[in-house]
Amino acid sequence: MLHLDSNSLEISNARIQHWNFFSCRTSKKITGINCATVNCKVCSSTKSHNFKSLPVIHTNLTHYLNNEILEKIICGVPLILELINNDLFSNVLSIADNNLLNNYFTATKTEKTDARFKTIHELVFDIESIFNYKYFIGLEPNKSLYSAYNLAENLNRISCTYCNRTYTTTMCSSKGEKLMRPQFDHWFPKSKYPLLAISFYNLIPSCNTCNSSVKGDIVLELQNHVHPYLNSNQNEDFEFNYIYSKRLDKYKVYIANKNSASKTFNTIKTLKIDNMYNAHIDELKDLIKIKQLYSDTYIQKIKAFFPKVMISDDEIFRLLFGTELNNIDFHKRPLSKFKSDILKELGIIK
Ligand SMILES: [Zn+2]
Ligand SMILES: [Zn+2]
Repeated sequence: MLHLDSNSLEISNARIQHWNFFSCRTSKKITGINCATVNCKVCSSTKSHNFKSLPVIHTNLTHYLNNEILEKIICGVPLILELINNDLFSNVLSIADNNLLNNYFTATKTEKTDARFKTIHELVFDIESIFNYKYFIGLEPNKSLYSAYNLAENLNRISCTYCNRTYTTTMCSSKGEKLMRPQFDHWFPKSKYPLLAISFYNLIPSCNTCNSSVKGDIVLELQNHVHPYLNSNQNEDFEFNYIYSKRLDKYKVYIANKNSASKTFNTIKTLKIDNMYNAHIDELKDLIKIKQLYSDTYIQKIKAFFPKVMISDDEIFRLLFGTELNNIDFHKRPLSKFKSDILKELGIIK
């Protein structure tokens, strides 16, 4: 699990561009009125939303979604997002029945059209149309002012935030068409938190396995799990390690909880990261082989072999193991955290 530093220049700029687009788009959808910028391209390309919800609910919703709240929804930190989401339904629906809401969000697609859910269902339809994630990911990067490709490019994350196993590079074709980008996992699942579908801090660049196969609609909680934009020291809270069974002649990767960090550990278990890394036993064996063949002084020996070449520890590490040495760079190469921990365990690096 990798930390996303919201104070870094790249991420701050990504957030500003995200806000510039979605503040205009959502506000125009709700009010039908263009922003103050003359000839604003986002506003002129956005149609206002035809509200489906009952008149009183519709008025409550449009009244609730003022500029201050929109800013919190689009750019608010995770704790704010959670609060606003819970607040919206009790504020907008005068029948604040939490059981009914919970039942709705756990119901199947067909059950959701049931008469008892009518008000909620219509409200959710309107919310989904205003904070429209499908529209966002459908935008063509070469024909739009802003798209999921722009967000991915701005964040510039090279491997999956959750597993650090898979490349998540963003690239368009030579004609500027869609080619590859990370998926965006909704930390608060959009099926249960429709209001947070396009919220900056709810879009976690990740791989297909983590987003679709493992996490899906599982609800993580801020008090029990690690959010990538919070918890900057999560990498120090756990360590990859391995055991070898002589009887079975088999290796097994496991993750050790270093600082009794229950949040980090809960998240690792929920995302099945320890299970996933058992797909990388061959990489583990390669590192063990290096240890057996070259002893502890592998890196020193390689350096001594090329005395005339000025080569930094970072570079030599990247060349020898194909991964990054420093915490902050782990995302640039898959398996960096894993290899770094195992190499420390083997005594090859300090
Ligand atoms: Zn505008
Ligand atoms: Zn992943």
